[in-house]
Amino acid sequence: MDYKRFNKNLWIKILIGMFIGIIVGIILSPHGYALLSDDLVRDVSPWIKLPGILFLGLIQMVVIPLILCSIIIGITQSGELAFLQKMGVRIVFYFISTTVISISIGIACVYFIDPASYIDPDLIKGFRDEMNYAPVAPKTFEGLTIPDRIANLIPTNMSKAILDKNLLQIVIAATVIGVALVSLSEDVAKPIKDLAQSGQAISMTVVGWAMMIAPVAVFGLICDMTIKLGFAALAGMGMYMLSVLFGLISMVGVYLFIVKFIAGRNPIEFLKAVREVKLLAFSTSSSAATMPFTMACSEQKLGVPAKISRFVIPLGATINMDGTALYQAVATIFLVQVFGDISGIELTNADIALILVTTVGASIGTPATPGVGIVVLATILTSVGLAPAAVGFILGVDRILDMFRTAVNVTGDLTASVVMDRWLR
Ligand code: ASP
Repeated sequence: MDYKRFNKNLWIKILIGMFIGIIVGIILSPHGYALLSDDLVRDVSPWIKLPGILFLGLIQMVVIPLILCSIIIGITQSGELAFLQKMGVRIVFYFISTTVISISIGIACVYFIDPASYIDPDLIKGFRDEMNYAPVAPKTFEGLTIPDRIANLIPTNMSKAILDKNLLQIVIAATVIGVALVSLSEDVAKPIKDLAQSGQAISMTVVGWAMMIAPVAVFGLICDMTIKLGFAALAGMGMYMLSVLFGLISMVGVYLFIVKFIAGRNPIEFLKAVREVKLLAFSTSSSAATMPFTMACSEQKLGVPAKISRFVIPLGATINMDGTALYQAVATIFLVQVFGDISGIELTNADIALILVTTVGASIGTPATPGVGIVVLATILTSVGLAPAAVGFILGVDRILDMFRTAVNVTGDLTASVVMDRWLR
């Protein structure tokens, strides 16, 4: 995909799509001006959403071959195992460090803003009765032991990994294939390398087509979301949302700091280069659907060499989720503060440390698709002894927060790519 061809003022077009989507959504929504009756809205909204669904469908169609081919190309282009080792060690160190920073910011925000103290006690009472609140015995990670989880990372059945859209397993398979290719002689490796090149080119061409309808797709997705959004659900949750948003904005500040002082680039130029990708992440709520654009942006706008971006971006989209980690930490502590008293949970420093470690692990395992952050959150809650049903309390505002945290997740991947460019030069 030639990014520049589609790039001309794309971010403005996407922004306009978003804006019109919100306006039309508010006009049509039964929770807004209710221009249409509930029944009519139900009939009309799938049509409004259609361009968005087609857009996501096209991307999803190619995302798995794209990840496979890109990682294989990235690894084989880097040429030697020593470079790969260097990149691997650095990227894992970098991903874990930024995730820990992000979670720490989240924890600081939730203690500083203390959103639980703004919650109307009546709201909690009704909710407690409704969910028939019962504390659960603390446990770490649902059912599976840590060795089980590590063993599960290896895709013993590739077809199943593809069928389940298990991106982490696919990334691992592609890495293993790539490393194997590097250690083979050129004449043996060439056919698969050529295949990967063609696969990548085909996938990016399809992504380019999807890009043409991006502004309309964004309109459809945002409009549909606004129609369905229960504005009542937002009331009372303002301070909680503010804690997450404040944390996310601070994290973007950290990225800009990293861009300037670690990657040695101009932060304003960086922000300009990544704006379309951020808007797409925001509108689709999916790092995976945004991944092809993130990769193109890293290579074509930030000038990161393919041998770095084709490895770092797919890997980052799968395991580096700073925004999600921050949100999960804020939500866990907020929910413990809201519901902890009846189950006798009081967070000690050791619990906070446990939340930090669990959240790092959980954000790595969170699939890069809309709304799953909150599902994984349920597992984190069990680790501190809170009933997973507590997530119901924050469900109403999750869709909006998902958009913001996804935008931060992809900004984190792009930041990682420019840092690696500097570290590996
Ligand atoms: N939607 C997020 C992503 O794709 C994941 C999540 O936090 O739900 O990056």
